[in-house]
Amino acid sequence: MTLHWPLDNSYARLPGRFFARVAPTPVASPRGIALNRALAAELGLDAEALAGPEGAAVLAGNVLPGGAEPIAQAYAGHQFGVFVPALGDGRAILLGEVVDGQGRRRDIQLKGAGPTPWSRRGDGRAALGPVIREYLVSEAMAALGVPTTRALAAVATGETVWRDGPLPGAVLVRVASSHIRVGTFEYFAATGDLEGLRCLADHVIGRHFPAAAGPAGLIAAAAAAQARLVAAWMAAGFVHGVMNTDNAHVGGDTIDYGPCAFLDAYDPQAVFSSIDHGGRYAYANQPRIALWNMARLATALLPILEGSREPAIEQATAALAGFLPCYEAEWLARFRAKLGLATAEEGDGALIADLLAGMARGGADFTRTFRGLALGSAREEFAEPAAFDAWAGEWRARLAREGASPATAEARMAAANPALIPRNHRVEQAIAAAVGGDLAPFHRLATALSRPFADDPATAELAAGPAADERVRHTFCGT
Ligand code: AMP
Ligand code: MG
Repeated sequence: MTLHWPLDNSYARLPGRFFARVAPTPVASPRGIALNRALAAELGLDAEALAGPEGAAVLAGNVLPGGAEPIAQAYAGHQFGVFVPALGDGRAILLGEVVDGQGRRRDIQLKGAGPTPWSRRGDGRAALGPVIREYLVSEAMAALGVPTTRALAAVATGETVWRDGPLPGAVLVRVASSHIRVGTFEYFAATGDLEGLRCLADHVIGRHFPAAAGPAGLIAAAAAAQARLVAAWMAAGFVHGVMNTDNAHVGGDTIDYGPCAFLDAYDPQAVFSSIDHGGRYAYANQPRIALWNMARLATALLPILEGSREPAIEQATAALAGFLPCYEAEWLARFRAKLGLATAEEGDGALIADLLAGMARGGADFTRTFRGLALGSAREEFAEPAAFDAWAGEWRARLAREGASPATAEARMAAANPALIPRNHRVEQAIAAAVGGDLAPFHRLATALSRPFADDPATAELAAGPAADERVRHTFCGT
């Protein structure tokens, strides 16, 4: 029996130069290692069937579900500021799209599914470690309320992939509102393919921004979505690590969990990626990089904006002008909630900045400090508690002016400040155990991360910061 999925294939109906038709390359012996039953249910897929051996064969790409039209998508991208005209899916294959119970169209993609015309010298495969990392972190982001691609399943392939040495292979089944990147627009712009640009813009407007009027409206809407996304990253203490334009989703979801990491000690200059030598993608740089990426989107769309060159540049500039105010408003809203505030006062930005500056001076733990505000334990995170006390006096006065009851403010903080994030050292430990054949730490962490706002004494050690010898300083790309 072939599993039948209610797949539609709107991307595969776009012009042929948008993609390459390519089927997944079967793997030696697929074995399911994680299945996201809640997400399967959202998508209207039969979780019971997916959990069995037939399901593993479909999730690994060995058997195509009925209705699949597998394709690898074409895209370009700026990598660390340098333009690369043809990247494309080198190890990911889109099976098709499912329209979920709420009418949302969602891609189902196999990452690590074998070579495509864009694999270059790569093998088209993924190692188990990066698959586990993406599964854990993307699902944690979803539970934290950050827009993101999702993980439907992880399947071990029974094959060995060669990186620095032999590693177990795996496939990640990724679900996304689309896999369209800023780099997808740049791909057509690079060859002067205006018809392709128009067609892609129409597709993206229909799919992500139905209220947007034309390409200028698309730029403005994408910039606003990106601004909201990066504000959510900042409030979660998340460092994406490789904000190249091929990893910038036009719909405003987090995509491509390569060298990403969460802050332990607050340090605005934090960089984890082993290839980010200049700190281009440091925590504090993320908003301006997102704007730079949006400027690349606008540049790609320039030739199809109305009018000749001058008016087109004016329209693009006007569309981008919304980014910073949107980012600032969203950042303020997120951090106000973290402080338990529901109203706005002029001085709130300075109050938040003061707290962050004190945290940076002593390297306070980002997650525990905010969680500790409502619990009365934030002070313990400060090397100079007196400095915290001075700040806390102002903060309490600000809360008092708002007039909300302490219980209301505490509830607001408990919903905005997670107890649990995917701590880098815990993710690394789960990966190391999985590579050694023990999946228990991975499952335990995944389960705990699905409820990040709960204070669960049974998993308190997962919430704790790293000991000195557990601290993760460098992360690596997921290839
Ligand atoms: P990423 O670092 O995941 O954003 O990937 C950058 C580019 O390299 C994309 O075009 C990927 O499809 C491609 N790529 C990454 N890993 C592999 C691999 N193992 N085999 C083939 N292509 C790859
Ligand atoms: Mg990528």
